[in-house]
Amino acid sequence: MLRRTLCQADVILELEPVDPILIKSGYSTVDGPDMVPVVTYRSGTQEYYFPGSSLKGVLRSHLERVARTLQPGSVCIPYYDPKKRDYSVPVASERGAFGCGYRVPSGDDTTACRYSDSCAACRMFGSLNFGGRFSISDAYPIRGSFPTLEQRNGVGIDRFTGGTVPGVLFDLLTLTGGRFRTSIRLLNFELWQLAALNLLLVDIMDELIAIGSGRSRGLGRVRGKVIDYKVSYMGKVGQLAGLYQLATDEERVAYGLHDWTADPAVELPDPQRRGLRWQFDLTADWDKRLAPLTPSFEAFLQWHGGPKGKVSSDSYEEVRP
Ligand SMILES: [Zn+2]
Repeated sequence: MLRRTLCQADVILELEPVDPILIKSGYSTVDGPDMVPVVTYRSGTQEYYFPGSSLKGVLRSHLERVARTLQPGSVCIPYYDPKKRDYSVPVASERGAFGCGYRVPSGDDTTACRYSDSCAACRMFGSLNFGGRFSISDAYPIRGSFPTLEQRNGVGIDRFTGGTVPGVLFDLLTLTGGRFRTSIRLLNFELWQLAALNLLLVDIMDELIAIGSGRSRGLGRVRGKVIDYKVSYMGKVGQLAGLYQLATDEERVAYGLHDWTADPAVELPDPQRRGLRWQFDLTADWDKRLAPLTPSFEAFLQWHGGPKGKVSSDSYEEVRP
């Protein structure tokens, strides 16, 4: 995207499990249980951690939910491939919500056009076409705040009868307590994307987001705390600016950037020079200071109007019931 860095936001987030947390590892391990949080060895000790890819998936689906609530049809169903005949989407109004990654660009086949076509979630988190602006690292336990491991037993349930399945007993390994730290980066953000990041952070702080498997079993709620929040710019800015304000006219059109300005403008504290960057530390009051950005997310969804780009009409008919 853009091939240059104009602005970025960096957040350090601490996660504290409220409920036990279970993450499927997908591998059998010497621990025995068939579903375990992901384990690694650091400095010779065994550590469990939450993979960034899992965290990103959870945050993406939470944001998709928020976007669909604010504006039905505003985001795609990312894994929804129009060529898969056997796939059926339960809600009729969502049957056209094919993943942005499976669409044919509405103009030239460039990253700019694909970005412009993409829905809010794909612009933020990426799709098959490009990487997205949002990245999150693996969350490792903080020294001195390691979680404890708990083994749980589960009984296999027959999905037809609702009864137990004889002989199907499985073990679960959960993490309880502890504190984990992860870092989030939003590169070349549009103002509505910074607003979306803040919506996610506030919902994590309010324990509205669960991670890991078994969420229907009452597992996985976490409480988040923002430890550090900085925005940086390559040039000097007087007030909070997003990609639209920093890009050229040509880039604004090519990438379909959303023209939105906070009113009144969001003032920034005194910057620190970090090499070529101007860095603003918003840790103390990011939620209040950036609150005027909140309406930009809904404004973007309405302005953009949902995923663009063509889907072959043949393949569309195939998935219709
Ligand atoms: Zn999309």
